[in-house]
Amino acid sequence: MSIPARTASATRPGFDPDAALARLAAGDRAPRLRHVHEVPARAAQLADWPDWVDPSVYAACAGTGVTSLWSHQREAADLAHAGSHVVMATGTASGKSLGYLLPVLTALVEGSTAPTGRGATALYLSPTKALAADQLARVQGLAVPGVRAATYDGDTPTEERRWIRDHAQLVLTNPDLVHHSLLPLHERWAPFLRRLRYVVIDECHVYRGVFGSHLAALLRRLRRVCARYGASPTFVLASATVRDPGDHATKLVGLPVTPVTGDGSPREAMTFALWEPGTLEPGGAAPLVDDPGEVDLSGETPARRSATSEAADLLAELVEAGVQSVAFARSRAGVEALATSCRRTLEEVQPHLAGAVAAYRGGYLPEERRELERALRTGRILGLAATNALELGIDISGLDAVLLAGWPGTRASLWQQAGRAGRAGTRSLAVFVAADDPLDTYVVNHPEVVFGQPVESTVLDPGNPHVLAPHLAAAAAELPLREEDLAMFGPGARGLLDALVARGILRRRPHGWFWARSDRASDHVSLRGAGDVVGIVEKRTGRVLGTVDEASAHSQIHTGAVHVHQGDTYVVTELDLTTGTATAVRGDPGWSTFAQSVSAFDIVGAQRSVTWGPVEVSFGTVRVHTQVTSFLRRLPGGEVLGTHPLELPQRTLTTKAVWWTMPVGWLAEAGVAEVDIPGAAHAAEHAGIGMMPLVATSDRWDIGGVSTALHPDTGLPTIMVYDGHPGGAGFAERAYEAFGTWLTVTRDTVQACRCETGCPACVQSPKCGNGNEPLDKAAAVRLLSAVLRHAPSTD
Ligand SMILES: [Zn+2]
Ligand SMILES: [Zn+2]
Repeated sequence: MSIPARTASATRPGFDPDAALARLAAGDRAPRLRHVHEVPARAAQLADWPDWVDPSVYAACAGTGVTSLWSHQREAADLAHAGSHVVMATGTASGKSLGYLLPVLTALVEGSTAPTGRGATALYLSPTKALAADQLARVQGLAVPGVRAATYDGDTPTEERRWIRDHAQLVLTNPDLVHHSLLPLHERWAPFLRRLRYVVIDECHVYRGVFGSHLAALLRRLRRVCARYGASPTFVLASATVRDPGDHATKLVGLPVTPVTGDGSPREAMTFALWEPGTLEPGGAAPLVDDPGEVDLSGETPARRSATSEAADLLAELVEAGVQSVAFARSRAGVEALATSCRRTLEEVQPHLAGAVAAYRGGYLPEERRELERALRTGRILGLAATNALELGIDISGLDAVLLAGWPGTRASLWQQAGRAGRAGTRSLAVFVAADDPLDTYVVNHPEVVFGQPVESTVLDPGNPHVLAPHLAAAAAELPLREEDLAMFGPGARGLLDALVARGILRRRPHGWFWARSDRASDHVSLRGAGDVVGIVEKRTGRVLGTVDEASAHSQIHTGAVHVHQGDTYVVTELDLTTGTATAVRGDPGWSTFAQSVSAFDIVGAQRSVTWGPVEVSFGTVRVHTQVTSFLRRLPGGEVLGTHPLELPQRTLTTKAVWWTMPVGWLAEAGVAEVDIPGAAHAAEHAGIGMMPLVATSDRWDIGGVSTALHPDTGLPTIMVYDGHPGGAGFAERAYEAFGTWLTVTRDTVQACRCETGCPACVQSPKCGNGNEPLDKAAAVRLLSAVLRHAPSTD
């Protein structure tokens, strides 16, 4: 149960965020504090216990100290109990688990009087094994008599699997297992599926983009197989706060889902500060990088300190003041760097405090996690550096301050991470520290995008043909697909089935479509991405370190690449695309590598277009051709050691994109001369990609762009931004829909940046295949402003 104990700590005094903030912003650091926002306290909205809850479930909750409900728990539990699909989208630590556990446990207890002892079952899905293990611990902690719960994942021993299938009432697992095991082997699961009453989908905001499309297809397959056994389970979803959670959940499940969004849990007041790191002193020490492999693009010294260095200093200040704090960084390597730098600072001023700083990288054993929790509770650890993996694993309730080093991806995650601070009876502090990135720069200068707006909507496209086709094949392998099944999979299903038949993957018979091959259909689909994957194998041990999708393999793990995997550095000695393996040796050679590539695109067709005066904006299908041609080796200071050619095949990605065209003469009138168009378009494209997360829940690694001074299909200067996944992921479509907003924030960011000719905080991109050449910051502002002058006033 994720209801935090809201009893005031007897041993620690109240926390004063104003005093802490004043200390952080003392002296010459004052200008770095850009904005302070007060989030008011919220009183609890209590609700009575529903009378349908089984007395043994009530007794179990009361036994753990939970004797009252918050309004959203009651609302969601009532809806689910009545058989309505429901999604709860309320804040961190608002006790969402109770909202689904009340109906689920009640059904399981009531079903335990059946002759089989299993009159009802429930399936709990979470994106990670760790979260499923945590939920199991919670259910076991409740110890409701007669409830048998078990986790079931890739590590579950064979002998236990059978027991779980035959006897467990509540199975906690992940979508991958449903895809690879439960559905293909549904006959073995028949007794479980026949009684399936509830399907709980936790952390459902995670299923966005391509992963979201996969889950949507998977849930349709699950519903179909359940129907075969006469079951139609109620879906209960839990999400972080997202815009339109009902819409998101309805797309995922494919059935109407009722949203519950009124958070009835109490909240203490929070002070939320936006912070811009200081500029680098000339001749000062080299800055810590936020994410190795992302910085040192231009070879020029960045204009300001990295978010990691800055957050390390702020964390040291807080630890010195005795304020228990957590600092979130974006990568594991960033976490290590932050903790190390913080300890080093403390060693100079308060050596005895250096040991009170720890790094948490996730992937820890349960006993290690419990030890860390103990150290936090007793105050032995005052400062913790962590990736957001912390969301899935340890209990850190009771901290007073949160530092966020770099934009965590979405407003929803920002609030989720900020919400990790706080204890009963006292205010808390959250500080967002901007990284060297256009989006971060924009945020600290425009507080209204954080505080004045609802969180973003989650993007997913259940009809993505590249995702749906293999799922249709898998569905046919589970149970022949019938005419009446097609509606469930959307209007594109029939065309995809025809194509699968033409390719010999399915066979059409009078009563349906059948799997026509001898292998397993589910083995052809990876839920976590689309397309083939390349394994990274350690040369010495033969151990598979991880996988990279083939599209990224060319640029990230080519022969000679320096690749950081889970915080460890490797050098790739050979990339073999025929076997799908990259052989790597461990060790840091002291330089980083940057792949160089050439890209071009064809327009397959515009689905929608709009004209803004002479500017034509379109959304549709494109084919992007990319070839990685060479890589650079660079020292941490930016110095180039050499350029090395690579022989890799051209790759073509068919996907969705947003693009716009501008006449050359009109650009000249707007102050962008013909010779400046390549640099202006390229800079506008980079900045636009950097700002995409404000309009769609993408991150910059999900999207790419190509700009050209003369596109063969349009005959005009064209800027194009595309979804980096086959078939598209919904991001480009959102950008098209919010085109005016997107371009405005992009232009404003570039214009407001204090650099002279472009920096990582505005127009430089960490993933540019062209070494950030050419880039013309000033011309990009003129180009974007000219386009915006024709924006319809209603956008
Ligand atoms: Zn700049
Ligand atoms: Zn570029």
